Parts: sequence; C-alpha cells; structure tokens
Amino acid sequence: MSKTPTVIHWFRLDLRIHDNLALRNAINEAENRKHLLRPIYFLDPNIKDKVGINRLRFLLQSLEDLDNNLKKLNTCLYVLRGKAVDLLPKLFDDWQVKYLTCQVDIDPEFVQQDEYIEDIAEKKGVFINKRVQHTVYDVHKVLRENNGAVPLTYQKFLSLVKSINVKEPIEISNVLSSHCKPIDIQSENYSIPNLKELQIDEETLAPVKYHGGETEALKRLNLYMSKKEWVCKFEKPNSSPNSIEPSTTVLSPYISHGCLSAKLFYYKLKEVENGRQHTLPPVSLMGQLMWREFYYTAGTGVANFDKMVGNAICIQIPWTKNDAFLKAWAEGKTGYPFVDAIMRQLKQEGWIHHLARHMVACFLTRGDLWISWEEGAKIFEDYLLDYDWSLNAGNWMWLSASAFFYKYFRVYSPVAFGQKTDKEGVYIKKYVPELKKYPRE
Ligand SMILES: Cc1cc2nc3c(=O)[nH]c(=O)nc-3n(C[C@H](O)[C@H](O)[C@H](O)COP(=O)(O)OP(=O)(O)OC[C@H]3O[C@@H](n4cnc5c(N)ncnc54)[C@H](O)[C@@H]3O)c2cc1C
Repeated sequence: MSKTPTVIHWFRLDLRIHDNLALRNAINEAENRKHLLRPIYFLDPNIKDKVGINRLRFLLQSLEDLDNNLKKLNTCLYVLRGKAVDLLPKLFDDWQVKYLTCQVDIDPEFVQQDEYIEDIAEKKGVFINKRVQHTVYDVHKVLRENNGAVPLTYQKFLSLVKSINVKEPIEISNVLSSHCKPIDIQSENYSIPNLKELQIDEETLAPVKYHGGETEALKRLNLYMSKKEWVCKFEKPNSSPNSIEPSTTVLSPYISHGCLSAKLFYYKLKEVENGRQHTLPPVSLMGQLMWREFYYTAGTGVANFDKMVGNAICIQIPWTKNDAFLKAWAEGKTGYPFVDAIMRQLKQEGWIHHLARHMVACFLTRGDLWISWEEGAKIFEDYLLDYDWSLNAGNWMWLSASAFFYKYFRVYSPVAFGQKTDKEGVYIKKYVPELKKYPRE
C-alpha cells in the first residue's frame, strides 16, 4: 500500500514521451496535487498467444526505450503483469489513485475495456482524462463534420478535414516535476520482462531489422525528413515492392505502437513541403498519412469494421474455406515465387512494402485462392510489426474489393507484377533460396 496518493498515466498505443498530451496532463496533475506520478503498462503474461513473436519483441524494445526516456523525466515505467480490467480496480485502492490519464484508442477491445474501467473509476472516485493523440485529426470530429456519416471515399475524407486546424505537437521535456519520482514499492516486480520470461526462445527469431522504441522512431523520422527532395518527389505507386532495402519509410511499426506521433510526422512533412514543389495526396507521403486517417475514421464509424458479417460497408461474398491453401499462402509455399518471397519476408522481418501487401492480399482473395479477407487479416495480425486494427481491416477490404474499391477485375499477376521492378529476381532469390541457382526466367 502506498502512502502518497498517485496519479497514473496508463500507456497503451502511445509508447512515447513526445507529443503525449495525456502524459503531460498527468505530470501537471501530479505536480498540482503533490501526488506521485506512476506511468504504467499492462502486459498480459499470455500475450504470446495473441501477438506474433516479432511484434512482441518490438513491443518489449519499445517499453525498454520508454522506460529509459521516462527516467530522464525522473520517473520510470511500471509494467504490471495481467489485464487492466483485473488489476486496475485493486490498484486504484492500493495506490490511492484519484486521477488517471490515457489516450483514446479505437479498437473495439479497448473501447469495451474502457467502458468497464470508467464505470469502476466512477464508483471509486477516480477521474479519467482521455486524450485524442493517436491520429492527426479527432476522427469523431471528422464524422461530425459529415453529419455522423462515414466518408467512404478518400477524396470525401480530404474535403472534410480541409478546414480542420491541426494543433502543433506538444513538448514534454521542460515539464519536469519533482513529484515524478521512481516509486518506493520494492515488493512487486514492475520490470520489463524479457522474451525468456515470456517463454520465447530468441534464437528462433531472425535478427532485428527494425528496432522498437521512440528513440529509433525519431531517428528514422529525422533521417527521412532530411531527404527533402526524396520527400517532395515521393509517389507511392512508383516505389518498389521488392527492393532489398525498403523503398518507403518503414515508420509504420513506430506509428502503430505510438512510438512516433502521427501529428509530429504531419508537422515535419508540412515543414519539408512548405515553399517547395511537391507531390500531392493520394500518392505523396502526406497522402499516405491521410490514408491512415481515412481508415481510422471509417474504423471508428462502422460497426464490425474488421468482419464481413454485420459490416454495413462490406460486400457479402461466399468465400470458400481451404485450410491447406491458406496454410501454403501463410508459410510462403504456394509455388508462386513472388507470392512466396513476400510471405517469407513478412514472417521473417515483420514488414513488407504496401504493394507487396497488395499482391499477396489480392492473391489470397479475389485474385486466385478465393479465401476470405478475414483469414488473411488474421495472419497479417500475427506477422506484422505494424499491425493496426483499422488499417489492417480497411486495407484488406480494399484489396479484396469488399469495400472502398470495386474494380474486382483488376487483378495483380503473381508473375508479371514483381518482374516490373525486379527483372533479375534478386528479391525472390533472397527469400526463396531454393530458387537461387535457377535462371532468372
Ligand atoms: C492488406 C493490407 C494490410 C495492411 N495492414 C496494415 C497494418 O496493419 N498496419 C499499418 O500500419 N499499415 C497497414 N497497411 C498499409 C500500408 O501497407 C502500410 O502502412 C505501409 O506499407 C507501411 O510502410 P511505410 O511506413 O514504409 O509506409 P510509407 O509509404 O512510408 O507511409 C507513411 C505512413 O503512412 C501510413 N500509410 C501508408 N500507406 C497506408 C495505407 N495504405 N493505409 C493506411 N495508412 C497508410 C502508415 O502509417 C505509414 O507508416 C496494410 C496494407 C494492406 C494492403
């Protein structure tokens, strides 16, 4: 039991210090009330049954980095082993919590959990302050601009946000408080677990290609923003799905985990574009960020967005069930070298290019195997470092021509599409080494 009352900041998909309004509110509140500040994160000990191991490694790295950054603010991260719904009610009592901050997350799992927790908090007299900070725009506001209707086209979405002012990202480093002290409770283990504790043998994983955390996210952002000409000339359709090193930013895992603020990315892009000739949405880099906002808005406004049944915008298609084909696709053993190379890259490295996602998603669904996009989305959820509830479901609906995009007859060739940008088959030979000695044809 703690003697000093506590203000909690509950980290979820906002694993960063920069542009974290909810965290700043918690720091201010702790200061004003002369309470302790305890930043917390809930980690389900069974997480490895729900989150793919590459993503789990990325998450643990992000937590480590967050802890280091919090220490610079004179506090640290308390990792609680268990589920928020089970642990928070007791924590409210034990730590004498009166104030809690967190960001608004839209995944139905969070929404449901929050309703339960808000109910308990009210009964226990804990004030909850939630902040919209995972997207550039407040997507609820965008929906209101459209009289509650979901904008179903990208252009419509752009027209709605045109007049919305985006507030500047906030800074935290100068809001240090003497009340942000590492906690005195020694009896419990609040450390960040390693993979071993979660019963994962690191030896089974490929070397880290994208290291998790805010520090790496900012480094990556700054690197790309320093390439001003590259940013201004960026056209997504002209980037390559099968280059050996990524042809796009790979900021997605950092944005998905909240290691990078979408708003900071937006502001940096504006800075680069300002006064220079640049490409435009939908193909520009700013346009990519707006795709994210578009899917977040749709995901917030449409019930059962990640399902076909009960989803009002999703065409109901009698997909077939074929476990053997699905397994072959997921393991990169279809016999189509380009498809297999992509799926193997995904499984090993946790990230593949957007157009590579197009290729394999089209192949699984309307293109070749006629298997439901929901099955593909589940495999992506397992393998992707950047897994994001609304982006994954929205893009899968697009690619399967179930919603947003309806030219179902425009199908990617599993042979010719890859050849356009990899005439020698270097990418295929890297990820499907069985074919290394075969002639390029
Ligand atoms: C079937 C399928 C599933 C997908 N699932 C996810 C997912 O779970 N999580 C995820 O982050 N992205 C997903 N995407 C979208 C997109 O492929 C990735 O965001 C992008 O490839 C990430 O690479 P990058 O950071 O280099 O992108 P860049 O081209 O550098 O773009 C910058 C940022 O813009 C956003 N962005 C780019 N493209 C899209 C897009 N089409 N839709 C929404 N936002 C976009 C991302 O946040 C990205 O980091 C999916 C796409 C498809 C076709």
